[in-house]
Amino acid sequence: MLKEENKLKPARPRILVVDDEMMMRVLVCESLRQAGFEPIEAADGEEAMGLIQECEPDLILLDVLMPGMSGFEVCSWLRTEQNDQATPVLIMTGLEDVSSIDRAYDTGATDFITKPLNYPILTHRIRYILRQKEITDQLRISEKRLALTQQTALLGHWETIPGDPFVYVSNTARSILGESFEGSKISKKKLFGQMAPDDVEAYQRQLQIGVDTASRVQFEFILNKEDGGQRIVFLDLEPLVKNGEVVKIVGVFQDISDRRNAEKHIYQLSNYDEVTGLANRARFLDKALNKIKYANERRKSVAVFMLGLDNFKVVHQSLGHAEGNQLLIELSKRLERFVRTRNSNKNLTSRAEVRKNINPNCENDLLASLGGDEFALALWGVRQAEEAGWIASTISHLIKAPIDLNGQEIVVTCSIGITFFPLDGSEPDMLLKNAEVAMHYAKSAGKDCYQLFSESMSWQSTRRLKLEADMRQAVENQEFSLHYQPKVKIADGRVSGVEALIRWDHPEQGFVSPGEFIPVAEETGQILQIGKWVLETACKQAKAWADQGTPLCISVNVSMLQLRDYEFCELVSSMLQKYQLESSLIQLELVESMLMDSMDDNSQKMQILRDLGVTIAIDDFGTGYSSMAYLSQLPLDVLKIDKSFIDLLLDDENPVAIVEATIALAHALELKVVAEGVEQEVQVKMLSDLGCDEIQGYYYSRPLNVDDFDLWIADFMGSPQKAKGNHISTLSNK
Ligand code: C2E
Ligand code: CA
Ligand code: CA
Repeated sequence: MLKEENKLKPARPRILVVDDEMMMRVLVCESLRQAGFEPIEAADGEEAMGLIQECEPDLILLDVLMPGMSGFEVCSWLRTEQNDQATPVLIMTGLEDVSSIDRAYDTGATDFITKPLNYPILTHRIRYILRQKEITDQLRISEKRLALTQQTALLGHWETIPGDPFVYVSNTARSILGESFEGSKISKKKLFGQMAPDDVEAYQRQLQIGVDTASRVQFEFILNKEDGGQRIVFLDLEPLVKNGEVVKIVGVFQDISDRRNAEKHIYQLSNYDEVTGLANRARFLDKALNKIKYANERRKSVAVFMLGLDNFKVVHQSLGHAEGNQLLIELSKRLERFVRTRNSNKNLTSRAEVRKNINPNCENDLLASLGGDEFALALWGVRQAEEAGWIASTISHLIKAPIDLNGQEIVVTCSIGITFFPLDGSEPDMLLKNAEVAMHYAKSAGKDCYQLFSESMSWQSTRRLKLEADMRQAVENQEFSLHYQPKVKIADGRVSGVEALIRWDHPEQGFVSPGEFIPVAEETGQILQIGKWVLETACKQAKAWADQGTPLCISVNVSMLQLRDYEFCELVSSMLQKYQLESSLIQLELVESMLMDSMDDNSQKMQILRDLGVTIAIDDFGTGYSSMAYLSQLPLDVLKIDKSFIDLLLDDENPVAIVEATIALAHALELKVVAEGVEQEVQVKMLSDLGCDEIQGYYYSRPLNVDDFDLWIADFMGSPQKAKGNHISTLSNK
């Protein structure tokens, strides 16, 4: 609300009566009071000045002749020094004192009234002046409001006469034009100098149309300000016609730069990916729709490629946000180049067709970023699986070429899913969805490869998506549990420790294998939360067994994403502390393949963990192609030979050499060797001969829940020979 609005319509208007004659004041005040005013009185000019500042009267009734300051002096003080033009001043003068009346007006009085006073006329005049003031006040307020609105809306007034070299503008309009323009009269020449020549031409053309047809014209142009800034200005002009001739052109002039920029920004946000600047999913689907309609009419084919970067979450996590984005930008540029080359080749060959009115835009290939680590392509005219495969290999080579990120060389691979229109879907989103299904297939098949979509894939992908969603509540709903599988030391036949293996009892689907949901959890990042739960549960259990007097070391499987998490070492340390657990009772199993990249970083973290007192095992050894030389650089305690190698021992054709060499080398590095997945006695016998230290596998026991495990171990300790066979079949063994 504007300040003046508070002062409108006081309940009883306050009138300051200034007169040195007391009798006069009493009479005037009394008649004012009776007429519904609230009089206050001052006996001279000085007192009046004080009361004016203090009481803010609505009207001042001022005697001219007073000792000290005269009424004129008070009035001119009010108008000049107080800069108050609004408060009405009614001067009281002697009858027919014309010079006083003139002087009163000169000093800024609103009106005069002659003495002796006619009281009814006095009150009427006061009322009239106050009403007048109220109207003026309201006008001023609405003027101010308008000015304020115009300022906020960056809306100015614009006026010109046909043929006049000037335009006449309001303050706001001038402030839009910039500081180089002064006053309200603006030279058209100067103004045109700051507009693009095309815009000047368009302005003159539009204006001429307006004048010729006597109709309103609207027009937008870019103003290049002298300070280097650029504004977008909107003009809405209306010719004023008198006697059939245009006499003036008036209109509004508005700075719409912010609005245009916001619109542009919104358009950008809703159509393009923020990081890479590529089209986003919405725009892709929109454009692809045109493309397939067009293809349909011409019986052509379109292939949709969905491309997902492999393990990008891990890469992103270890690189940091900014570098991760830099990487995405580089990859998107490569894809853009690929698409551009294809498009330009196409246009060269189809120029003749273009002339035959074929829409080349629809034949162009599309590229989009689907947010994060996924991209989509719609490629025109690809109909053969063979051709698609060839293109997929080209793309994956493009992606795979090393990227230099601040001196660090990064290699990223991708998995690609492919669908064809019309074979795999008639709508863009169906084609994209199915391509995504195929892409996940490619991922699970081992990454860095491509996969064409087939019908049988979709139900499996639905299951995957459901698992992913359900997993979010699984920790909270206590659907996970840990099972424990013993490891037996060959030398003395005693249980040397257990491996904790997670189990998910899904409310609808029952038991879900970790082999199925752990990869999903790793891809979505949920493994961090799940892994934390596993670690805590294992610590709690290790503590419970220790407190019962049967301490057992628990091996916990750790995912790559967990190890990469910069808080992981701290998490392990805090869990040990929380459960007051002897740190040698926890072993961490790291999969061989995950240690291959970021060696330095991993090795440093492993050292920190070992310093805490936990031991570290390398899991699934033999599957990750790592060499012993490389292993020797890592701080390790245990090597677990993968089941696939242990299985070789059952094969007569295969010599035991690989297992034998592995054990020998591990021992040379002072690592303890555990054989995984041992199912048969002959394997135990052979492993024992080869010098293997510990055995884990169904031969002794399947992974068991805590209660079953407690029974098993009691039994086993009583009679190891008896225990081993019985419990495979009799105990619950999910
Ligand atoms: P892994 O770490 O290699 O675990 C050994 C797997 O082999 C377990 O499968 C175990 O039940 C199975 N196994 C043990 N002995 C035998 C045997 O004699 N014969 C056969 N055929 N299999 C045997 P499981 O429990 O299904 O776990 C599969 C994988 O899931 C694990 O492989 C591990 O990579 C992962 N996993 C399980 N629990 C966790 C966990 O808490 N965290 C993480 N990150 N991964 C886990
Ligand atoms: Ca393991
Ligand atoms: Ca393993």
